[in-house]
Amino acid sequence: MEGCIFCKIIKGEIPSIKVYEDERVYAFADINPITDGHTLIIPKAHAENLWEISEKNITAIHQASIKIATAMLKVLGPVGIAVMQLNGKEVNQVVMHYHLHLIPKAAGGSKLKMTEWELVPGDVDKIKGIGEQIGAAI
Ligand code: AMP
Ligand code: ZN
Repeated sequence: MEGCIFCKIIKGEIPSIKVYEDERVYAFADINPITDGHTLIIPKAHAENLWEISEKNITAIHQASIKIATAMLKVLGPVGIAVMQLNGKEVNQVVMHYHLHLIPKAAGGSKLKMTEWELVPGDVDKIKGIGEQIGAAI
C-alpha cells in the first residue's frame, strides 16, 4: 500500500534487518527494541489489522512465530517470550500494517511492562453477560 512503511520494507525500499522470510511473511528486527531480539512478523500482503488479514496469512505468521521463537530459545536462551499484536490507534497501534511482536525476556532482564497488568476481580454477572454476547455474535 502506498505510503506504508512496512510495505516499503517488504519491497526493499526501506532497509531492515531480516530474520526470516517465506512466501507469505517477512520477519525483521524491531528498530526500537524493547529487549534484545525484539522481532516483528508481517504479512507480505498489506492488511491493517486482524479484521483485514486473510486466514492463510495470519496462520503463516503464527507458524513463523514458532520457528522464530524456537531460534530465539537457541540463540538467546530467554526465560519467556511475550507475543503481542495491536489493532487500532486507540490501543497504540502505530504502524497500520499488521505485525506480530515477539519480545524475548532475558534471564535477570527487567520486567516487561506490558505483561504486568494488575489483576482486579470483575463482576461475574457482567463478565458472563459480555462473554455470552460476544459468543452469540460469532
Ligand atoms: P505498534 O504499531 O505500536 O505495534 O509498533 C510498531 C513497531 O514498529 C514499533 O515497535 C517500532 O519500533 C517498529 N518500527 C517502526 N518502524 C520500523 C522500521 N523502519 N524498522 C523496524 N521496526 C520499525
Ligand atoms: Zn503495508
